Parts: sequence; C-alpha cells; structure tokens
Amino acid sequence: MALELPVYLDYNATTPLDRRVLEAMMPYLTTDFGNAASRNHSFGWKAEAGVETAREQMASLIGAAAKDIVLTSGATESNNLAIKGVAEMYAEKGNHLITSPIEHKAVIDPCKYLEEHGYRVTWLRPDRYGVISADQVAEAITDKTILISIMAANNEIGTINPVADIGQVAHKHNVFFHCDATQAVGKIPIDVEAMGIDLLSASAHKIYGPKGVGCLYVRRHGPRVRLTCQMHGGGHERGMRSGTLNVAGIVGLGAACELCGREMAKEARRLTALRDRLHRGIVARVDYVTLNGHPTQRLPGTVNLSFAYVEGEALMMKMKDVAVSSGSACTSASLEPSFVLRGIGVSDALAHSSIRFSLGRFTTAEQIDYAIEQVVRGVNELRQLSPLYEAAEKGSPS
Ligand SMILES: *Cc1c(COP(=O)(O)O)cnc(C)c1O
Repeated sequence: MALELPVYLDYNATTPLDRRVLEAMMPYLTTDFGNAASRNHSFGWKAEAGVETAREQMASLIGAAAKDIVLTSGATESNNLAIKGVAEMYAEKGNHLITSPIEHKAVIDPCKYLEEHGYRVTWLRPDRYGVISADQVAEAITDKTILISIMAANNEIGTINPVADIGQVAHKHNVFFHCDATQAVGKIPIDVEAMGIDLLSASAHKIYGPKGVGCLYVRRHGPRVRLTCQMHGGGHERGMRSGTLNVAGIVGLGAACELCGREMAKEARRLTALRDRLHRGIVARVDYVTLNGHPTQRLPGTVNLSFAYVEGEALMMKMKDVAVSSGSACTSASLEPSFVLRGIGVSDALAHSSIRFSLGRFTTAEQIDYAIEQVVRGVNELRQLSPLYEAAEKGSPS
C-alpha cells in the first residue's frame, strides 16, 4: 500500500480520535442524550451511568478512586482549577508556590496571575535535560508554601521528571503536589498513591480521545485537598466545577483511558523503537544535530532535535508532507524561540533550529523512514545556502 501523505508526527499537540473511542461515544451523541444531572428519568440515569463508568476508567489508569475525579474541559482548565483553587482556598495558610519556567503555559500563566495578586512564586531552574530534582523542590519549600506544581513529562522535549521523589518531599513538608500529567498519562505508568500526587491534570485529546474534555484528580484522603471553585453554578462535580457534563466527551475520555491502560507497555516499546529509529536515521546522515531533552528519561514517542545552521521554520516548509512542530512555537506574532528550550539553556540560534517530532498510535516504520528522507533532503538543501555551515565545514570558527 502506498504511503498516505501527509505524515502526522505531531501527537504531542493533539491526537486523532481512536475509532474505538468514537464508537463508545456514539450512543451518547445520539439516543442516550440525557443530562447526567437529571435524577428522575432513564435518560438522565443512562447518561450518569456512562459518566460514572468513564470516571472509573480514568481513575483506574492513575491508581485513583472514581470519586477523586473532577471532570473539566481539558488540562488547561484542570491546571487553572488546581493552582488558583488551592491558592485561594489556602490563602490563610500561606502565599508561596513552587513551579518551573518550562511548565506548560496553562501552569505558568495561572502562576503569573497569582504573582500579580499577592502570591510569591519560586521558579525552579531545570537542568540541561529539563529535569527538576526533588532536592531543588525541598530547598525551595518555606513555611508559607502551599503548592508545588511540577509536570510529569514535558510536552516539547519529552523529559520525564522524578515525580515520585517530588511527591515524597511534598508530603514530608505537608505541601500539596499538583502534577500536570497531560503528556504522561496513558503513555507511562502514573500512580497517584505511589507518586504522592495530590492533584493531577489530564486531557482526552492527547490520548486519542475528543478535544474539549479532561479531568483533575483531587485527593480526598491523606491529605484531603480542598479547592475554591473557579466556575460557579449548579454545584456539579462535588461543587468544584459547575456546568452540565459533556457526557459523550467524558465517555470518550474514559474509553481512551481504558485503551491506553491496556496497550501501554507494548505501545511504549513500539514507540521507543520508532523514535530511536528516527533519531538514529537522521544522525547517521546529517551532522551537527543535537538532542534536546533527556537521552533516556524521555517519553516513548518524543524526539526534539536541533539542526545547526538551519531555521526550524524553513525546514518545516521544506518538508511539507511531514507535520511536526518547530521550536519557534509562534504563540505570538513574533517568532520567539521556545521558552522551554531557552529554559534548559539552549542558545537562541539552536532553539530556532529545532524540530519536535512526536509519534503516536498510528505511526508506522514506513512513515518514519519517509520522515528521515524528508529531513535529510531538507537540511541538505538549506545548508547549501548557508555560509555559516560552509565555514563550519571548512573548520574555521564561526
Ligand atoms: C496539551 C497540554 C495541556 C493543555 O491541555 P488542553 O486539554 O488542550 O487544555 C496542558 N499541559 C500539557 C503538558 C499539555 O501537553
């Protein structure tokens, strides 16, 4: 069968809906359309049953109980609810938070917002691989610290943090630990008990579920975490998040979790092999390539590379049939280099030269081999136009 183009290698941005997930959702988009909060007829009961099953599927993937799961519109909302919710609820106890500058914007921006409203935030510096250590966290804790927010795995470089160690430090000091595990859940084992996580954010669309649905795990025992709700209304989700539940989306989140849990170990091995095939295939034929992120403590499907003397944006244009992300994530109109790469000490030039390849469930070896060809051709063409590369080749300092 001919290779279908374009090839999608941007799974960390979003994933396609798995057909099996869509099938689980279909009844709730059609016949079983009830409001899960309707307590007095079978339409409501059916919807509620679908939601409760999904809650259990989600909970079981992270070692939680169904009652601990607060359903939201996605990880952005979950992060906001966790961070601002804890900060407001425990304002009497303290005003200090600990996080890092290479978190997702949905963690950074709520923290910055709090900074503008009387809270103090310690921004821990990651090492050159993007790791935050438990020792760094321990050193930053004061008697005013109310929350630590550190991600499980980074979306741009795939680096995995020592979450269990951080959880241990947090609990030793009686500080809540929030973990944005959006990129980790369903890909690597996550257990809120074993890892000492008090609040955990996840999103369906990163794990082959629908967009616009996610959840926040909120610990109920040892210790109990309380939150100030950010969405006021009918008092849904134990009063923590009002709004009629997105029943079909939630059922999709549950089905997506179930599939990820079942296929995780095998899929992780498959993706690690494909990821390394891509990395090695490129490095074997292109020089001046550097890996951004941890060499081993990294998500199975993520490889972020810098190609010296090449603009990431230009390289993306050269390989139009391969969908990837560049390190000049143009969140703003100006092409700012990625704050994550900057945060781990990558020079602006190399940050501008970076490409994130993120692989997933439907990635094949054939697609990887095609991507390698496109990268090699693209880099070679661009470097032929680069006087800096020419100078480097001749061995002169530039
Ligand atoms: C995608 C992502 C988010 C945002 O999730 P949404 O559900 O799209 O709001 C948050 N954190 C990380 C690490 C992500 O990768």
